[in-house]
Amino acid sequence: MSAQIIDGKAFAGTVREKVAAHVTKLKSENNITPGLAVVLVGEDPASQVYVRSKGKQTVEVGMKSVEHKLDVETSEADLLALIDQLNNDDSIHGILVQLPLPKHLDEDLVINSISPAKDVDGFHISNVGLLGTGQKSMVPCTPLGCLMMLRDHHGSLSGMDAVVIGRSNIVGKPMAQLLLGDSCTVTIAHSRTKDLPEVVRRADIVVAAVGRPEMVPGDWIKEGATVIDVGINRIPAPEKGEGKHRLVGDVDYASCAERAGAITPVPGGVGPMTIACLLANTLTACCRANGLEEPE
Ligand code: NDP
Repeated sequence: MSAQIIDGKAFAGTVREKVAAHVTKLKSENNITPGLAVVLVGEDPASQVYVRSKGKQTVEVGMKSVEHKLDVETSEADLLALIDQLNNDDSIHGILVQLPLPKHLDEDLVINSISPAKDVDGFHISNVGLLGTGQKSMVPCTPLGCLMMLRDHHGSLSGMDAVVIGRSNIVGKPMAQLLLGDSCTVTIAHSRTKDLPEVVRRADIVVAAVGRPEMVPGDWIKEGATVIDVGINRIPAPEKGEGKHRLVGDVDYASCAERAGAITPVPGGVGPMTIACLLANTLTACCRANGLEEPE
């Protein structure tokens, strides 16, 4: 069997087009431009790439993009003051603080200082609680993108066995909540899980969010299962030249694709969907803030 490739890049393009069309309508009918503020503290190279990409795509869908690049030494008080200012700025509907933060800053404190209504990453404790209790919330972008691809591929997920490998607050846990919300039978696996291969072999849906290059081999995958690979790992690629790298996921793509029914590639799978969902969340936040109908 050779798996169908779930093309996250193309899907993300469709999501962005819908967002752009809605933004055009908001501008012409309501004279409102959704605004996204991204705050970056320090100069982590990967974070810089993400922030640049987010800013570019925000502008491309017609939204206002504001970037605050702060020195690595920025104090907690100064960062909190900036967030307070953005919370009170009516032209800003979404606020994203790029993680990880430098060690001297308390990530939980910073995230929980963002107004929940503007928390487009969905990491604020209020949004976590709302998601956990099945109420309307801001849903974290990466798991939301995964769910959209799964729904698009399967239609209903009801009754399916889903295994999420990884229990982080930003991917694993919210992913499990979303799958539960769609009536999957959900297992969350992690580094202490006993006999992980057997656990994964039960799954109709496998979501790998571990951060270990190509950790999941094909023989862990049930014939015909859907594999969503969240991992983004940079590994040396001497075949491309000295000092070169390439990106791989948390699953061994070649062997998993032989057994899976469908699989997301890396790059071009979950990654592009994450930013598209950030834009969709910003649009949703803007509509809610203005008492307007939300996009689907
Ligand atoms: P974390 O490091 O926060 O969490 C990793 C999880 O994997 C932990 O729960 C850990 O278990 C578990 N784990 C580690 N080793 C094993 C193992 N040998 N067997 C089973 N479970 C294990 O990572 P994130 O959730 O932040 O990210 C996961 C991956 O997703 C990374 O590659 C990251 O780059 C990528 N990512 C991609 C995004 C995208 O847009 N596509 C967005 C965010 C992340 P334990 O809790 O027991 O330690």
